[in-house]
Amino acid sequence: MLKEDHFNLLASAYRSGEKQRLQSLIKEIRYTLNPHPAGQLEYNIPTFRGQRLNGIQHKYRETVLFFAKRAQTCHAYCTFCFRWPQFIGDSELKIGRNDIGILIDYLREHPEVTDLLFTGGDPMVMKASLFAEYIDAIIDADLPNIKNIRIGSRVLTYWPFRFLTDDDSGLLLETFDKIVSSGMHLAFMAHFNHPRELDTKEVVEAIEKIKETGAEIRTQSPILRNINDDPDLWAEMWERQVQLGCIPYYMFLVRDTGAQHYFGVPLVEAYNIFRDAYRQVSGLARTVRGPVMSTTPGKIQVLGVSYVHGEPVINLIMLQGRDPDWVLKPFYAEYDEKAYWIDDLIPAFGKEYFFFEDQYGDLEYSLFSDLN
Ligand SMILES: *Cc1c(COP(=O)(O)O)cnc(C)c1O
Ligand code: SF4
Repeated sequence: MLKEDHFNLLASAYRSGEKQRLQSLIKEIRYTLNPHPAGQLEYNIPTFRGQRLNGIQHKYRETVLFFAKRAQTCHAYCTFCFRWPQFIGDSELKIGRNDIGILIDYLREHPEVTDLLFTGGDPMVMKASLFAEYIDAIIDADLPNIKNIRIGSRVLTYWPFRFLTDDDSGLLLETFDKIVSSGMHLAFMAHFNHPRELDTKEVVEAIEKIKETGAEIRTQSPILRNINDDPDLWAEMWERQVQLGCIPYYMFLVRDTGAQHYFGVPLVEAYNIFRDAYRQVSGLARTVRGPVMSTTPGKIQVLGVSYVHGEPVINLIMLQGRDPDWVLKPFYAEYDEKAYWIDDLIPAFGKEYFFFEDQYGDLEYSLFSDLN
């Protein structure tokens, strides 16, 4: 999945037998693969009481992400993962934290935040006792603004036994139950790429166990070349998810990081696949939004191709924006079948910039100027 020039460089360093040279080349290549796409390190980490809160990201007004240190690993090591710097043992690239006290203080002072999202890696690799400690602290803090706890996880595919036979599966499910009983909504954001992942009896049982706690399961997946670039497969996957009581949520485009050149599907093609799948399913599965790019300014959905005076344009909309005012303002780009990402697109109708950019192509806002 490396590009040819990187592959050749590595091959020659490897053949040279010089370990040091190989290591530094690996590091160099990693840095060229855009380890923190969409400005995650520059823009998303909040400053609070004069301190940069590593392990916390706050990009969209309503939702704060928490990267527990013990969750900085994953069941899967997907080669398309945009969190890959978390896993490579390079501490310069890592984010993650242990203590939750400062997070709770931050949430208390940011009443606009309604959702706390546990992410990683995969938070479900944590011991249930540690997860329970975090949750107890949040419940004890009694934050009136926090209405939803979310968990982003791939565990249902890779280790459904987490909810069935693990030593601490009982405590984990009790903790889910506790979240729901405390009056918060628990949204389990499950990552599935393919309908085959829903075939085992274990995954079905695990879904039942989670739902028994009162949590809802919402599903999301990237559209991947060679894996799921087929509308029938998506229709089958969404239908099956609905049948199992899950709620289809997002179809993502592969980010501009790592092996995007291997897995990426161009925007227009992804839209066509999305539409062909969406047309096949009932309204119960049409809760899904896509295809969506998680870009520096926000989550941008490709709405389709329109013809204006006979000329095709790509129709876009922001579902989440760094500036909440950007949300749901339609905008247009020149038609380009080869574009994979917002950076590849040119504003339509002779405009020089998209509405969220200034004349230098920078984002047209000051980060959380209204918040911090
Ligand atoms: C996707 C995302 C969220 C959550 O967005 P929703 O549309 O509310 O699901 C929050 N923060 C970041 C950084 C995200 O990428
Ligand atoms: S499951 Fe998610 S976090 Fe884990 S490796 Fe895959 S994409 Fe990355």
